[in-house]
Amino acid sequence: MGSKGQFRYHWQSHNVKQSGVDDMVLLTKINEDAIVENLKKRYMDDYIFTYIGPVLISVNPFKQMPYFGDKEVELYQGAAQYENPPHIYALADNMYRNMMIDRENQCVIISGESGAGKTVAAKYIMSYISRVSGGGPRVQHVKDIILQSNPLLEAFGNAKTVRNNNSSRFGKYFEIQFSSGGEPDGGKISNFLLEKSRVVMRNPGERSFHIFYQLIEGASEEQKSSLGITSLDYYSYLNQSGSYKVDDINDRSDFHETIHAMNVIGISPEERTLVLQIVAGVLHMGNIQFKEAGNYAAVENEEFLAFPSFLLGIDQTGLKEKLTSRKMDSKWGGKSESIDVTLNVEQACYTRDALSKALHARVFDFLVESINKAMVKDHQELNIGVLDIYGFEIFQKNGFEQFCINFVNEKLQQIFIELTLKAEQEEYVQEGIRWTPIDYFNNKIVCDLIESKVGSVTSYTSASVGPPALVVLSLSVSQSLDSDLFSSWGQHHETGPQVSYDADGFCERNRDVLFTDLIELMQSSDIAFIRALFPENLNQEKKGRPTTAGSKIKKQANDLVSTLMKCTPHYIRCIKPNETKRPKDWEESRVKHQVEYLGLKENIRVRRAGYAYRRVFRKFLNR
Ligand code: ADP
Ligand code: MG
Repeated sequence: MGSKGQFRYHWQSHNVKQSGVDDMVLLTKINEDAIVENLKKRYMDDYIFTYIGPVLISVNPFKQMPYFGDKEVELYQGAAQYENPPHIYALADNMYRNMMIDRENQCVIISGESGAGKTVAAKYIMSYISRVSGGGPRVQHVKDIILQSNPLLEAFGNAKTVRNNNSSRFGKYFEIQFSSGGEPDGGKISNFLLEKSRVVMRNPGERSFHIFYQLIEGASEEQKSSLGITSLDYYSYLNQSGSYKVDDINDRSDFHETIHAMNVIGISPEERTLVLQIVAGVLHMGNIQFKEAGNYAAVENEEFLAFPSFLLGIDQTGLKEKLTSRKMDSKWGGKSESIDVTLNVEQACYTRDALSKALHARVFDFLVESINKAMVKDHQELNIGVLDIYGFEIFQKNGFEQFCINFVNEKLQQIFIELTLKAEQEEYVQEGIRWTPIDYFNNKIVCDLIESKVGSVTSYTSASVGPPALVVLSLSVSQSLDSDLFSSWGQHHETGPQVSYDADGFCERNRDVLFTDLIELMQSSDIAFIRALFPENLNQEKKGRPTTAGSKIKKQANDLVSTLMKCTPHYIRCIKPNETKRPKDWEESRVKHQVEYLGLKENIRVRRAGYAYRRVFRKFLNR
């Protein structure tokens, strides 16, 4: 034990000498029950972190733990892993030192289901790195941006769901870039698939993105009158799911934090006003209703067109026309001309919602871009990437969003399997070391299957062959959030229940093209900022086949995998101990289920059968 060993248990709120084993490689029996038992013992003693070799297991405590202060930052800095109790700071420190010593990029893949603590873990990593690295004013500025990007993107991209009051509805890979001296002097965020459908609909008891509530609660009187802000229940986009307030969220103070974050990032006061104007514009857009007039849709409440038109700088009649009719290309005797087709009520609602979703998504992309611009540096040296992506989702009804989310997760699980289970075992075989193979479920087939499904969804939409109204794609997926829900469906493989995807609306969501009419409408705005959000060159777009959401996510996932594969990977496996969000509440079967699908037992087995210390000879020699 090192010189800092005397601190070892001081940071605990009480005097526990040892609780279970710090590293589950040391368990005497390796089965799921023993793993769960060990995690439980530690959790009840307020130790949320446990190792499996270099992999960190983190169990959500649902309360602030006392061991994240300056003292711990100092304690873990430069210390060897086993000198101190398991901690996320140890992992962060290890990444930072590895990067500096080996001059290699590092990444950490944070996985776990929704509400397990991934985003909180990502923030701890970023704040630790910011605290232990030095730097002058420019570096300090980059650090501020890194930290302030969180509240800003959370305002526009997080929401209350049934599983998590602050659920990230987008995935992100945050690359912190360093100078060769180890100072964070740049950064880059890649974001994945914002669940924009939430703007217009969601499950009962859930909320839309925080920003809508923040604006209504936090706006000044002046802002309220210029943006037409009234009460939360006035807006049909908000009142449909019947949830306005969240226990541990203060929308009013968060609003000011969001504004502050925009400041730090360098978004100008004018741009800030315009961003809020669009947020309000979306809310007002949702209040436009339609009625049947003959077989067609007519706007029911014409006075409701005024606010969104005003806020978005577009013509009121133009808005009305574009919401109730659509330009279609038709070919007559070899000549192509466009005709206006009148929409029915359902189509009009769909069109309105498509515009609202697009507006929100494009504002979100604008924010990500602004953050990236503020952190950009011209040459790459070293970096540490933090991957915080939405976890597996299985609801009663799973739509296109779940399909994409689960697909990305399967790919990540695949990386973990490849690198920790498969590659490690193959290495022993290669080096001629005696080795008894350890069985694990390789989910590659699931990835391949989904990828081919993404492909087929893509192909039948682009061929515009109308799919049947309801296709249930029943995909066997290796993970599940809720075993009870699916237990009756029969198990396809060791840990895998089935997830059924309700393909109703799949193609629409996948096609995800914004009608030319709507783009034209927004390009006619007299507000330059809004025009800039719709930069499409419509003459050119017509020729190429539009990319689908499915092919986009497929490409993003594959790009991500190749980025990750070039870094030295680290893993944090987050576990959610209960559904009540209460501290010290331990639901045994839930935890056991997660231990199973995260493959912790196999992870321990492989780790234990192998060598404790491994390093490439060249690196070992250098060191
Ligand atoms: P995920 O990103 O995995 O969906 P979050 O990181 O948003 O989950 O965590 C959900 C909630 O759980 C947080 O808002 C917080 O209240 C609580 N939580 C998670 N991790 C911790 C932690 N280390 N300490 C205290 N509370 C936590
Ligand atoms: Mg999250």
